[in-house]
Amino acid sequence: MAVERTLSIIKPDAVSKNVIGQILSRFESNGLKIVAMKMLKLTPEQAGEFYAVHRERPFYKDLVEYMTGGPVVVSVLEGEGAIELNRKLMGATDPKEAEPGTIRADFAEDISANAVHGSDSPENAEREVRFFFPEL
Ligand code: GDP
Repeated sequence: MAVERTLSIIKPDAVSKNVIGQILSRFESNGLKIVAMKMLKLTPEQAGEFYAVHRERPFYKDLVEYMTGGPVVVSVLEGEGAIELNRKLMGATDPKEAEPGTIRADFAEDISANAVHGSDSPENAEREVRFFFPEL
């Protein structure tokens, strides 16, 4: 399997719950290397652009408000099959449907405040890594 890079965001609900370390540790213990990382508070413009694909969805406004409600931790994870592996570690979008032991099953509140973001395809991974880390 090819070595890939994927973008992870620890969302405001997980940051405020004080579980940044526990989430990062899951990446590391599953063979993903953190090759870039920063903590920041997204502006409405940044969150709106990052989630532009969801612009027409009914939850778009709530999503932008939630993502700008507190600091987030953005990182680039690298490893074999990193994109799919990260999605597996995250669990389903709705934590009620997430497999036991996944990040969302353990730390997410509900479908809107669901602890983490992870790129879902090679194309999106490339776009999202460039969005936050143009120097990489
Ligand atoms: P993901 O790739 O698993 O994060 O899921 P999506 O790309 O489908 O959705 C992006 C994000 O929008 C999710 O992680 C949630 O934070 C939010 N979201 C998705 N579906 C809903 C919904 O039905 N209601 C609300 N309020 N937020 C949602």
